[in-house]
Amino acid sequence: MAGGRWQAGDIIHRHLPGYHLPPMFSARIRQLLGDPGARVTVLTGAGISAESGIPTFRGPEGYWTVGSSVYTPQEMATLEMFNRHPEQVWGWYLYRFTVCLAAQPNAGHYAIAEMDRQLGDRFTLITQNIDNLHIRAGNSTARTFQIHGNINLTRCARECTRELQPLPESLKVQRASKELAESEYSLLHCPGCGAWLRPHVLWFDEYYDEEFFRYESSISVASATDLLIIAGTSGATTLPGQVVAVVYQRGGTILDINIEDNAFSELARSSPHGAAVRSSAATVLPALLALCPETEERTAVRRRD
Ligand SMILES: [Zn+2]
Repeated sequence: MAGGRWQAGDIIHRHLPGYHLPPMFSARIRQLLGDPGARVTVLTGAGISAESGIPTFRGPEGYWTVGSSVYTPQEMATLEMFNRHPEQVWGWYLYRFTVCLAAQPNAGHYAIAEMDRQLGDRFTLITQNIDNLHIRAGNSTARTFQIHGNINLTRCARECTRELQPLPESLKVQRASKELAESEYSLLHCPGCGAWLRPHVLWFDEYYDEEFFRYESSISVASATDLLIIAGTSGATTLPGQVVAVVYQRGGTILDINIEDNAFSELARSSPHGAAVRSSAATVLPALLALCPETEERTAVRRRD
């Protein structure tokens, strides 16, 4: 384990202190994780990023001053604000990006990435987080639905092309100023048509779609999901709420992992073999990974050695 950071493989080789799922429902969870015909979906939100030190930005830490006005995150993260003050919205996002860059994926992220690798095509991650930590932890982009976008990507605001482009590397630096520098200004314009690039994120005054945010795919995956693991999200936005409702209605098993009760807890408790686990994602997800067949096999081999 280099530099004290988690690597994707480490998590299944280390003995993690702490959490063991209650045996009464771990048997059913183990069965679902091991069944080649069972579909497993993980739904994540701000809580798992908070465990890596990323604030939600919905509170005062996300407020931004433009001239003599102070704007809330709900006002900054809008198409309307971008159309009025694109340079200010970019300044706000680039500031947030440096916070995301400084953060590292945690044991919860790595456990999800390892589940993705082990379960393959019967696994999907639906995440509300735009901080890129899941991809950095090793989740496959094909099986990760980033339903609110990714701060690491941009696209042309005028849509001369709908191709996504990575945020230029030179913008991913620790910033001394909240203002854009002249050199940064040009990097934030579309090489095709010269219009502003925009962050590839879903703003408060925009709608989910399939092309950018995998709306229909998320509902479709939910309608086939046998085990839904909810980690660190309280259900404040609409698509996650729909995903959970669809899984519940089809009789899927729901585990809600959150440090406090939330909108999904009751559904989880009343789903077949479901539960609401009041603990952190970084603690419980490795315990769930330990129930995956490949992890169990490796653990058994290690015991025999
Ligand atoms: Zn363009």
